[in-house]
Parts: sequence; structure tokens; C-alpha cells
Amino acid sequence: MAMLNLILFGPPGSGKGTQAESLITKYGLFHISTGDMFRYELSNNTELGVLAKSYMSKGELVPDEVTISMLRKRVEDNLDVRGFIFDGFPRTAAQAKALDDLLAERGESISALVELVVDEEEIVQRILKRGAASGRADDKDPNIIRNRFTVYKSETAPVADYYAQFGKSHKVQGVGSIEEIFDNLCATIDSVAGAL
Ligand code: AMP
Repeated sequence: MAMLNLILFGPPGSGKGTQAESLITKYGLFHISTGDMFRYELSNNTELGVLAKSYMSKGELVPDEVTISMLRKRVEDNLDVRGFIFDGFPRTAAQAKALDDLLAERGESISALVELVVDEEEIVQRILKRGAASGRADDKDPNIIRNRFTVYKSETAPVADYYAQFGKSHKVQGVGSIEEIFDNLCATIDSVAGAL
């Protein structure tokens, strides 16, 4: 049976991490969050963590080469799963291409990209709230948050267009209760999974 490989897409603070938690349980998928991986490296003060921090602290993207090799290893170490939820990856067209190639080597592919749609003002308010609770340094400064949104629009949004050309991009309203958003995500995912 083909894997169910989903990209959970949307700007920072759109709820990807929260929704991914519930989706992995419901669909039995393996969660890969490159942001979480970088934060883990950072908390252990590894060379990769120190490098990543120099970008994260400015709201910029960690270079593709570094991010892609980290992601590749995580995928290759976990190929016995039912599928993956990619959260916060791919964030550039080059990452999307690398992901497609990596999966194609195994006869697999991305099943769908599902985008949580939330506007910029809502995002800034949500992230500031999250920063106050979690202590994430890049969630505390409105200028860094705005920069992450700018980077999202210029470098990351094209990833949705890239998958749209294969009819694989879907949008879900990212505003409402966590349960409502989850139900809408599941409806979209079920229609994709049913067609696999
Ligand atoms: P996130 O938790 O997904 O918002 O990621 C936090 C930060 O980690 C981002 O602002 C980037 O600096 C870095 N990061 C996470 N994922 C990626 C990625 N796929 N490509 C480049 N940088 C990333």
C-alpha cells in the first residue's frame, strides 16, 4: 500500500504543530518538524544547533543544504512507517524538489499539501501569546515575527504553487476552534487518502 505523506503547510503560528499532534494519532503517521529538530539541536548545544540558531534568532531560514540533509536522514531512519507528516518542511522550492526526489527514490510521493490559512495580524497576536507561554526567543519580538511572515510569503508560499501544478495543494481555514479546524483537515485528508 502506498504511504500517506502529508505536508502540513501554513505560516508560522498557523497551528501546524498543534494539529500535527492530533493527526499523527488519527492516521498513524510519523511527525517530522524541522523546527522541533533544530530546537532540539539548539538545546543540546550541538554544532548544528549553534548554526541553526544564528538564522532562527533573526527569523531567517536555515540554509537548504543543512536542512535537507537533516531531513533526509530522519526520513531514511524511519522508512517502516505508514506515512509522514512534514511540518515546517519544505519551506523553499529547492526543499520541495529534494523531498520529491527523496520519496521518488523509494517509489513514494507526497499525497497532499494541506495549507492552514490564517491572516498576518492574527498570526502576530498568536505567536506573541505562544512566546509568552513557551519562552521561544523567536516568538517574542514582533519584528522577528514579521520577518518570518515576510520570508514565508516570498520563499515558502511558492511551495504551495509547486504542488498545485500536480493538483496536490489544498486549503483549510485555519481560524476557529482547534476541533473545528481538525475536522476540516480530516475531511480534506480523507478525500485524498480515499483516492490513494
Ligand atoms: P518553526 O518551528 O517551523 O517555525 O521553525 C523555527 C525556525 O527554524 C524557522 O524560523 C527557521 O529559522 C528554522 N527552520 C525550521 N524549518 C526550516 C526549514 N524547513 N528550512 C529552513 N529553516 C527552517
